[in-house]
Amino acid sequence: MSPKRDKSYYLANKKRIRSLNKKWIKENKERFSMINRRGQVKRREKFKKRIFKILGNKCSECGFDDERTFQISSITNLGKKISKNNNGNKFLRCLFKMSTEELRNNFQLLCSNCNWIKKINLKERVRPKKISKDTEINKKREY
Ligand SMILES: [Zn+2]
Repeated sequence: MSPKRDKSYYLANKKRIRSLNKKWIKENKERFSMINRRGQVKRREKFKKRIFKILGNKCSECGFDDERTFQISSITNLGKKISKNNNGNKFLRCLFKMSTEELRNNFQLLCSNCNWIKKINLKERVRPKKISKDTEINKKREY
């Protein structure tokens, strides 16, 4: 069957197919979550591959090219907004959909060392909250 025919069949039976799918998911919850997780990992790899490639496949500070250390760092307010409002796969999907130019204008690739250095230099680092004198931890210390 050609993909085109497949699609027209789907469109004609949209409601029925959807309700069948829903029913299957309900009856096979564990299998579905397993399949779904596998798909998520695959999608994440696909997203990362394209994003890394566009952003140069190496750290833009020091040139380190081990992709296990890559972190996507925002360089504009728009980039910051996008990373703040999306997490995990959603964030990657959002970047995946961007044009090459948009992506390069708003994000850069850094290795985790350079990204931490940047965060500390810009004072973006999240500091641990100061513990006030009457917290549980300090009370216990007195004994
Ligand atoms: Zn680096």
